[in-house]
Amino acid sequence: MRALVTGAAGFIGSHLVEHLLGSGHEVVALDDLSTGSPDNLRGVADDPALAFHRGSVLDAELVDDLVTGVGTVFHLAAAVGAFVVRDRTVEGIRVNVHGTDTVLEAARRHGARLLVASSSEIYGKNTKVGLREDDDRVVGSPLMHRWSYSEAKALDESLVAASVEAFGMHGVIARLFNTVGPRQTGQYGMVVPRFVGQALAGDPLTVFGTGEQIRCFCHVLDVVPALVALAACDEASGRAVNIGRSEPITIAGLAARVIERTGSSSSIVRRTYEEIYGRGYEDLQRRVPDCGLAERLLGFRPARDLDDVIDSVVADQLGRRAAVTSA
Ligand code: UDP
Repeated sequence: MRALVTGAAGFIGSHLVEHLLGSGHEVVALDDLSTGSPDNLRGVADDPALAFHRGSVLDAELVDDLVTGVGTVFHLAAAVGAFVVRDRTVEGIRVNVHGTDTVLEAARRHGARLLVASSSEIYGKNTKVGLREDDDRVVGSPLMHRWSYSEAKALDESLVAASVEAFGMHGVIARLFNTVGPRQTGQYGMVVPRFVGQALAGDPLTVFGTGEQIRCFCHVLDVVPALVALAACDEASGRAVNIGRSEPITIAGLAARVIERTGSSSSIVRRTYEEIYGRGYEDLQRRVPDCGLAERLLGFRPARDLDDVIDSVVADQLGRRAAVTSA
């Protein structure tokens, strides 16, 4: 199989590229390197089965060209991260809406299977324990930047579902719940690499809001094979499928756990949302998936727990520090 991965130099994309190459596939990789890094693909850069292209998913001609001869398109390219949504709102909306439209149109024209990475942000403020794919979205005003990522991804999902119906193409949607692991950077807001970086530096861990908000974290190496299986699953076409782990933890609890796993002497400090995001920011108080559909369709069962997730991020960051020091 030949696959196209958009967002290939990103955190999840680079692990997906490695997985596909390791399974004997040819991979066409596309990334504009806006948040991704060539460093993420360093381990496979010399693999003759990998062809990397620097470019944007907004470039319809390039995307169409790259989809030619490809069996499956994994569309992961997106503007992600709370700080990106805050600082590059317009760019984010454009990439997340028009980029998906462009990739979908090319996949349709060339008869390729399509997987679109979506997000648990879709559910917004719905705090149900065990969110299922058909549960309601509860979101605030579209005029608040904070919701633009959720809105864009919702539109992407509608486009995929409607295109499957209208054109008979194969299109699936992966709703990812807080995927974490090596290579994820804290630069764009993601909490685990931020806490680990702070703990390793001996800096205070910055808990935003009360710290009582709840998330579930899933290791990227559990997510990636599920993406490959989902793209191949006929029964999933036109559907969205939650991919995550259902074990909840509060963010204050996460901070304490990171301190424990690293043996750090760091303290924990609170920051208000206003300090970080300006006025009017609303956080999601609880986000816990029901992954029953992924289990039924794909046999999905994450093997790694939260300590594995934290330990892998610690090892990754220590490795990077050692590389910088020895350079
Ligand atoms: N968060 C935090 N400190 C940080 C970064 C994030 O307390 O330095 C919080 C954030 O407000 C949110 C949770 O951690 O409640 C998860 O944030 P992340 O951006 O990783 O994911 P998402 O909000 O998309 O679940």
